[in-house]
Amino acid sequence: MSKIMKPESLMMSYGYKPELSEGAVKCPIFLTSTFVFKSAEEGKAFFEVAYGHRPKNKDEELGLIYSRINNPDLEILENRLTLWDDAEDCAVFESGMAAITTVFLEFLKPGDLVLISSPLYGGSDHFIKKVLPKFGINVAEFKVGQSREEIIQIVKSTGMSDKLALIFIETPANPTNDLIDISGCKDIGKYFSSSDKEVYLAVDNTYMGPVWQHPLKHGADLVLYSATKYIGGHSDLIAGACLGSYDLIKRVKTLRTFLGNMASPHTGWLLLRSLETLKARMDIQANNAEKVAEFLNRHPLVEKVYYLGNVTENDGEQYRIKQRQCLTNGGMISFDVKGGEREAFKFLNALRLIKLAVSLGSTESLAEHPATMTHMDVDLELRNQLSITGKMIRLSIGVEYFEDLIGDISQALDKINS
Ligand SMILES: *Cc1c(COP(=O)(O)O)cnc(C)c1O
Repeated sequence: MSKIMKPESLMMSYGYKPELSEGAVKCPIFLTSTFVFKSAEEGKAFFEVAYGHRPKNKDEELGLIYSRINNPDLEILENRLTLWDDAEDCAVFESGMAAITTVFLEFLKPGDLVLISSPLYGGSDHFIKKVLPKFGINVAEFKVGQSREEIIQIVKSTGMSDKLALIFIETPANPTNDLIDISGCKDIGKYFSSSDKEVYLAVDNTYMGPVWQHPLKHGADLVLYSATKYIGGHSDLIAGACLGSYDLIKRVKTLRTFLGNMASPHTGWLLLRSLETLKARMDIQANNAEKVAEFLNRHPLVEKVYYLGNVTENDGEQYRIKQRQCLTNGGMISFDVKGGEREAFKFLNALRLIKLAVSLGSTESLAEHPATMTHMDVDLELRNQLSITGKMIRLSIGVEYFEDLIGDISQALDKINS
């Protein structure tokens, strides 16, 4: 099987050898904690590689040892995930937060500075601002829309530019769909790199990945996912992933071995099943989102729609970034109703088909209220600057028939004034 084929053609087979599993067409769930060695010599050889005491010989694969270190369901899943991002290697985790925090712990040390974009997913924001400082790690933050010069100035004004070790961004930003220039951030990383220190760029690609945006192609060193979202896609599991070069993922996997936060074989198996329909699901979601956005754009009770499809030539830099980075307009739409929290709540409470829940990327459409739910922890002043106010609703568009989605939104908007 070659990488010349499109990923969607390989999602049913890549990395799995039926002859190793009694000919089963699908990979079984390997619910086992440990694996039997053929000989003591083999066990010794596996451990030498696993603990990095010698490099792998040519064509040598790390043998199966113990499910905290490796497991067939996870290895096959990791191989398949590399196809979408064209990454050398992948590590899967028990949650998106496990993937993100493991990267912070591996690539930052006391005294270091991390530069982040804002807004970030609430969990990432909390870990960076409340937990990392306990380990002596400093944080600098820039906002969507700030120029290269402004961002460089933000780093310099900390007085710790030589300590900058990692840049962490999320694009498009949740919930406003504002875009951040990935290659521009890598350039800023290079600006602060020196001969003995490379500043790495990590991108949380949960909103668009792995089908619609490929940050490694734009210079990112690491791509992170909450696989709970589009990759899992059925709101029935929590998982995460990190992708990048062999060398960087080796570091990530080594720390994962000692933190013990890898995904379980059962979660791995569920994700293998999800990957088979990933492209088909995301295609439908992007098409549905376009139809729903068209409806919202024209509705008299809707004040503003935050959707990538609404970013046009008139938006200058945002449009240029979109053209470079995004393969579609995605499946996430936020909008402001006319009024405030009261009107937004009336709308949310009136929905029938669309479920009122946080999370995103799943087969069923979901609606939530960022200001009082996912983003309530964000400082009020920053929330206002970012337009995350009482009148904003966030929609994650699913695979339902688009006219039913529009019908549900339409009847719920009608309830606002009744
Ligand atoms: C959900 C989410 C996370 C956290 O992932 P979990 O799987 O819930 O741990 C991180 N980043 C983004 C953008 C998310 O949407």
